[in-house]
Amino acid sequence: MTTVDRGRLAMLLARETDRFAAAHPRSEALFERARGSLLAGVPMNWMVKWAGPFPMFVEEARGARFRDVDGHEYVDFCLGDTGAMTGHAPAAAVAAVTAQLARGITHMLPTEDAIWAGEELQRRFGLRFWQFTLSATDANRFAVRLARQITGRPRIAVHNHCYHGSVDEAFAVLGPDGAVEARRGNIGPPVNPAVTTRVVEINDLPALEAALATGDVAAVLIEPALTNVGIVLPDPGYHEAVRRLTRKHGTILIIDETHTICAGPSGYAGAHGLEPDMLVIGKSIGSGIPAGTYGFSEEIGRRIEEQVTWDDADVGGIGGTLAGYALSMAAVRATLTQVLTAEAFDRMIPLGERWSDGVASVIRETGIPWNVTRLGCRAEYHFRATPARNGAEQWEAGDSELERFLHLYAMNRGILMTPFHNMALMSPDTTEADVDLHTRVFAEAVGELFD
Ligand code: PMP
Repeated sequence: MTTVDRGRLAMLLARETDRFAAAHPRSEALFERARGSLLAGVPMNWMVKWAGPFPMFVEEARGARFRDVDGHEYVDFCLGDTGAMTGHAPAAAVAAVTAQLARGITHMLPTEDAIWAGEELQRRFGLRFWQFTLSATDANRFAVRLARQITGRPRIAVHNHCYHGSVDEAFAVLGPDGAVEARRGNIGPPVNPAVTTRVVEINDLPALEAALATGDVAAVLIEPALTNVGIVLPDPGYHEAVRRLTRKHGTILIIDETHTICAGPSGYAGAHGLEPDMLVIGKSIGSGIPAGTYGFSEEIGRRIEEQVTWDDADVGGIGGTLAGYALSMAAVRATLTQVLTAEAFDRMIPLGERWSDGVASVIRETGIPWNVTRLGCRAEYHFRATPARNGAEQWEAGDSELERFLHLYAMNRGILMTPFHNMALMSPDTTEADVDLHTRVFAEAVGELFD
């Protein structure tokens, strides 16, 4: 039997929910108290999206593990949805940040660490100039603003079912009739995203060509592989064609490596020789201390210098009082030079392979129509027989009840997966035993579901 028996699923989900609630009385009490002052009982609204009836409150996190306030230990494959891909509290970053804390946290003046960070990013990604922000969202927003400014064009193009942070232009999807519409759940869009955005499926080159031929697209903002709807890999030759088309139409190519840094120390772009005009990365680069960055070529730098007057820079729409601040730069320098190194990726990527091989073998042996995708040290499984080729296919394969059950089953047995999909990320501190634990627990869950 390879289709999900919904009655059985509902029964198992109820059993796991009860088990979770019984094991987490202290988290539950804190959640009840939190509802008195925090909307939905959490400091940030996504935190209600965990599989349990309430989120676990964390006592301490170190390396690839954390302990909740009820005393349970977890192997963490979520790693703060990439913010802690370095492992929690890596010693080198903690030492650099602690030293900087005592020397002043922010002063809106540069520190030498910023130069180290800029030089290391230049070395890794090959782009000439770098600017810092507090988040990947801001880095994307600023890259988009600059692209519009220097091209004089109004729109951007994105992949269907992309996610680039809370960037208004990117909350657009293709509707059933192929027209651009606001994505489900888009809160208070300033204008209809169809006005600002063209949407194309990843791997649909004719659609990209048509979008760019309109002549109104300032920038293509893409992840080199989709990650947020679940990993969707580009077809061979896709990126070469994207580069050729963006050059042909004078459109700036912005590659967002915030998640695809999992492909290696220079991200997917470095691993596959991509040549973006601008590149964005955030989350992991400061080991979890707020930091994002965008880099750009010499030519883009020259065009910016021609068009932006520094006299007005403070009110130009790009900035942030704490952006590039001393603490963040100390964290980025330490993370890039001592934590997320090439040697760390040499450990992390084989763990990603082991994780996906383990899950794939369970899927094969059970005969269920699911598949596993992997990009470097990031891997996940999907509820369809073959890997999706675009965002819509991946989206349609989603099954929130099934996902909830598998996450909760894992949590109840000491494993944390990334909440919005079935994704696991390896850190430099993850071990083979951690990966094998996941394979065993996954096999048990699947065994209970399909017998
Ligand atoms: N870009 C990508 C590809 C992301 O996945 C995310 C967040 N998931 C962001 C940007 C935004 O990151 P942040 O929320 O830290 O600003």
